[in-house]
Amino acid sequence: MSEHPTTKHAIVIGAGVAGLASAIRLQVMGYKVTVYEKNSYPGGKLSHFEKGGYQFDAGPSLFTRPKLIEELFALANEPIEDYFSYERVPVACHYFYQDGTLIKAYADRDQFAKEIHAKTGEAEENIKAYLRDSANAYENIAGIFLKYTLHRLSTLFKAPIAKAIQYLKWPYLFKSLHQYNQSRFQSPKLVQLFNRYATYNGSNPYKAPAMLSLIPHLEHNEGTFYPKGGMISITNALVALAEKKGVKFIYNTPVEKIIRANNQVEGVVVNGENKFADLVVSNMDVYFTYQQLLGEPLKAAKVLKQERSSSAFIFYWGINKNFEQLSLHNIFFSEHYEAEFHSLFQTGEPFADPTVYINITSKCEPGWQAPAGKENWFIMVNAPANKGQDWASVQDFYRKAILKKLNAILGEDIAPYIEVEEVLSPVSIETKTASYMGSLYGTSSNSKMAAFMRHPNFSNTIKGLYFVGGSVHPGGGIPLCLSSAAIMSDLVKADVV
Ligand code: FAD
Repeated sequence: MSEHPTTKHAIVIGAGVAGLASAIRLQVMGYKVTVYEKNSYPGGKLSHFEKGGYQFDAGPSLFTRPKLIEELFALANEPIEDYFSYERVPVACHYFYQDGTLIKAYADRDQFAKEIHAKTGEAEENIKAYLRDSANAYENIAGIFLKYTLHRLSTLFKAPIAKAIQYLKWPYLFKSLHQYNQSRFQSPKLVQLFNRYATYNGSNPYKAPAMLSLIPHLEHNEGTFYPKGGMISITNALVALAEKKGVKFIYNTPVEKIIRANNQVEGVVVNGENKFADLVVSNMDVYFTYQQLLGEPLKAAKVLKQERSSSAFIFYWGINKNFEQLSLHNIFFSEHYEAEFHSLFQTGEPFADPTVYINITSKCEPGWQAPAGKENWFIMVNAPANKGQDWASVQDFYRKAILKKLNAILGEDIAPYIEVEEVLSPVSIETKTASYMGSLYGTSSNSKMAAFMRHPNFSNTIKGLYFVGGSVHPGGGIPLCLSSAAIMSDLVKADVV
């Protein structure tokens, strides 16, 4: 028998990855779930398009922690292999430096340490010790943030806090990620490589706490993975699972308002009609949820006290050539990393020598993700959050800067190989997925208290209203969004029983 009578209805606002996971979890708990999605397609940022025979994942490209997807299938008692498959990637990333150095981040830790030593002179043991500490921090401290709400003492008391404190190091809280990395490595190249993990959640390594040094554990100890068919397979698998369990999806239907009475949620308004439900989960950016759906501008403004994460410019290029020196994930570092982050977060100006990331899924599935002999390049540079900049000229600026950098490092004129092109700007990120300021990851981790300041996964004032996704606890990125859905469902269980 299900835990709750099947007559209970739940509405999920938005079919982003957290909305999909929430719908599955609630349906499995016995709720009858309807998902309203404003777009004509599911996935939000985790979506896809095809152009000229090239397949492009529109947003996320790095897949870690597949066990969180497996967990959903196990919960729903469905065989994951019927829906979704993935493989571990042998080299996590190719790192290119301006002086021509190429570091291959092998999945195998010993091989990675040897590669670093060969290319930078850094002692192998320094890398191994760093990754051991990263694993300890992830396994013993991160769980508190990833599995529990931080906003209710009753649930927080269940968390293994005493164990976490044993592993908490002074520098994690009182040094920036950059200061910490400087204290661990001799080589500036390695400091830069490990600084970049702050961008995993759109943050600035010169401001974000050293606690973020737990992130490399995901790539270097657990591994990075490639989902067969590209990242869109995650969305497709979760939608298929949700539908199999009975979740109803209604596309092209923005929720206009959340209805409440006597501090209890009653449902939502779509197309001017009331749709009643026992509980409502908003996967819409929490800022817009307060501003547009709840008519609470003051609460929306309060959310903004926390700095938004950075945004990005993405160029999707169909490239009429194979580049042997590139792999699935590639990073071309800027020479002046600190200045780059200063312009991202302080001045809001585009940076002339940006760090360039290229993802090429045709490296894993040649002839399918791109026509034979060609490559699908997803090129991303970090960009400041949208504050009304002149994005048309910024786009032109970044395109030139990217080409200049790639031409210099790859030693070829790239422009003539581009036969297909699309662009995603901070404005289009904002309009396509209703993410305030086009932020990729909701709020940044640029302050020591950031992890504690994110909006909770429940409403303090409206019973039956919950929040999931990148703009709320525990934060942005696919793994954290999936965790937000798990925390939400634990809260529902605690609240209803
Ligand atoms: P979103 O994807 O933000 O979706 C919200 C959904 O709600 C949308 O479908 C939207 O249309 C819908 N919606 C909004 N308002 C309404 C309304 N009123 N009514 C109905 N529907 C509504 N993460 C990683 O893990 N790895 C990466 O490599 C990575 N790279 C990224 C690259 C880019 C370019 C971007 C944009 C993001 C990247 N991220 C990455 C971050 C990751 O994509 C997000 O954190 C995550 O996908 C956000 O999921 P979400 O559930 O919060 O919802």
